[in-house]
Amino acid sequence: MVVALSVEQGVNRLVVETENKQVVDALNFPEQDCEPALTRRVRQEPNGARGLRQGDPLSSFIFFLAMHVLSKMLNLAATKRVFGYHPKCKRIGLTHLSFADDLMIFCKGNADSIMGILIVLDHYNEISGLHLNSSKCEIFIAGCSSRTLDFFQQITGLKNGSLPVRYLGIPLVTRKLTEKYCAVLIDKIKQRLHHWSNRDLSYAGRLELIRSVLFSVSNYWYRHLILPHSILLKVDQLCSRFFWKGEEKAVAGARVNWEFIYFLKAEGGLGLKNTKTWNKACTIDLIRKILVGDGSLWVAWLKFYIFKEHEFWNYVAGSNVRWNINRMLKMHPTVFPIFSTSDSLRLRDIWDSIRNKREKVSCHKLIWFPLHIPKFSLIAWMALLNRLPTRDRLLKMGINTEWTCVNCSNDQETRNHLFTQCTLVFSSLELHSAA
Ligand SMILES: [Zn+2]
Repeated sequence: MVVALSVEQGVNRLVVETENKQVVDALNFPEQDCEPALTRRVRQEPNGARGLRQGDPLSSFIFFLAMHVLSKMLNLAATKRVFGYHPKCKRIGLTHLSFADDLMIFCKGNADSIMGILIVLDHYNEISGLHLNSSKCEIFIAGCSSRTLDFFQQITGLKNGSLPVRYLGIPLVTRKLTEKYCAVLIDKIKQRLHHWSNRDLSYAGRLELIRSVLFSVSNYWYRHLILPHSILLKVDQLCSRFFWKGEEKAVAGARVNWEFIYFLKAEGGLGLKNTKTWNKACTIDLIRKILVGDGSLWVAWLKFYIFKEHEFWNYVAGSNVRWNINRMLKMHPTVFPIFSTSDSLRLRDIWDSIRNKREKVSCHKLIWFPLHIPKFSLIAWMALLNRLPTRDRLLKMGINTEWTCVNCSNDQETRNHLFTQCTLVFSSLELHSAA
């Protein structure tokens, strides 16, 4: 049974309780380390109440300390058999997962365990002042009859939740991830693009937003999940459309192939990460963590409940094994050569070993030199690739326009003419330098 809870913050009361040393005692902190910092920040209200000012940076740290106390209480209660471990958590002693005010408690699916957890939470409420926000709490039970389920709901007062759920923004599913579960990611990216589409951004500005903001939004998913190919393509499509058009509009006649943009700047591209390759590198990094036993809870759980006495590569997956583990096992031929030299590779090294490469170009230092101006560098990059909308290129695309140079009208307007031959451009440059 899993209980997903949301703890309501009541930091002001918590601080007062902290002064009573209950939380400090529970954490075993020396008083002299905590007391001065706390008492300096606590103010006395005119009505006699005491607490932190709203938005005080200290409040999040105190909240974290308080949740740490709850964590210790739950672990202690499980060892004292106040409630039973969840059957799939006992071997690693896992009673709960907690992040900020979100809490998931795992326990055995019987009435005694539920009552035990309620006792722990009541006691925690007494010493800390933090209580559950029952409107945001759910209980997930499997393998029980509907009658038992009703009984559990009655004694807890919590509503019954249904799987799959999202934890920290990503879906918790054991089957193959489908587009339906990834709709949240696509919606998030679309929201950002919609917000930026009204702004008159240069190519360089759009590139920076894709590289920093959009990548960080989706990278969280790449690092933890094996995303469907269609979703990766969709993310690429959204980024490509935004880069070339500034909005979600089809990119007919894009100046440079999007695959070329994935090459490093030193190789002639713009250094964006190929979503498919990056997601694959992240998956290989997860395999590396399993192989080296990096000490995370996830690796420990896999070792005790999936692989047991087997080595990762020798493990024969049964029909009940999670889809992503099967997928990782099938990556053996790809992964083996990467780790044959070293198993201490960083994620960036893994990505570099599997990405498409091309020869380095010598001119990249002329464009991407230190202190370059991004907007001008991007135009120079397009000029070097001969992708600027000069009249010779427009005519080749079937666009009806004049063929002569817009500046001097003496010759055909081509990139080479504009940058090396156009008399008007060079005479104006001479005037400028003389001035
Ligand atoms: Zn000219």
